[in-house]
Amino acid sequence: MLASKHTPWRRLQGISFGMYSAEELKKLSVKSITNPRYVDYLGNPSANGLYDLALGPADSKEVCATCVQDFNNCSGHLGHIDLPLTVYNPFLFDKLYLLLRGSCLSCHMLTCPRAAIYLLISQLRVLEVGALQAVYELERILSRFLEETGDPSAFEIQEELEEYTSKILQNNLLGSQGTHVKNVCESRSKLVAQFWKTHMAAKQCPHCKTGRSVVRKEHNSKLIITYPATVHKKSDQEGTELPEGVPEAPGIDKAQMGKRGYLTPSSAQEHLFAIWKNEDVH
Ligand SMILES: [Zn+2]
Ligand SMILES: [Zn+2]
Repeated sequence: MLASKHTPWRRLQGISFGMYSAEELKKLSVKSITNPRYVDYLGNPSANGLYDLALGPADSKEVCATCVQDFNNCSGHLGHIDLPLTVYNPFLFDKLYLLLRGSCLSCHMLTCPRAAIYLLISQLRVLEVGALQAVYELERILSRFLEETGDPSAFEIQEELEEYTSKILQNNLLGSQGTHVKNVCESRSKLVAQFWKTHMAAKQCPHCKTGRSVVRKEHNSKLIITYPATVHKKSDQEGTELPEGVPEAPGIDKAQMGKRGYLTPSSAQEHLFAIWKNEDVH
């Protein structure tokens, strides 16, 4: 079909997939599914069940209650189920497992070196303007800085990387090569995958010195934690990287020390929220 001169058109530059948030899902949903029966005794769709006509007609005899189209013309509509308890998202379970291994259950911080975090963030930022070469340059800048300075603080590392990063971002404000170029996408996923692979297995928490909890997953649906025998309380000595304010999630309880236990999805969620809050890198 030929596009007329007046028809606005766009060239597709990229495509990406993501997850809807709970709020977005509720906005898209036309029905809250609350009825476990999907058909009644006569074989008709039950109200608020999975075959509710608001979601679309199940056969050619019915009409959609949402768009009033028939079986052939209604494309179907989304519904949602409110879960009474927090559950693991099976699509994100592997990432959750890695995050638990790479974080401290006592102080709720990531246990990888600060340098690795700042490097990754800077690299992802320069990739946003398509500056592929800058990714390698940042690596060089960091290793040179670590060599020269010995043991720089988290703040110094961040500053050093920021200087170069902001220069790249400013220079690329006009005429950016775009972020959806294949090479840029590849570089981004490579960096992120590498980060997951390398930095999710520290032996000890660098912030509170608590030993690692051993995390085991069972059938991709259960998480068993063996907690360290001793937990060090956070102290404000040397490391000035400790988060301000007390995290809301509880740390490791005295009764849990050295023991093995089942991690409930809601405790895992609390832990992740606390990490998100404490790791306020941006
Ligand atoms: Zn419809
Ligand atoms: Zn810790």
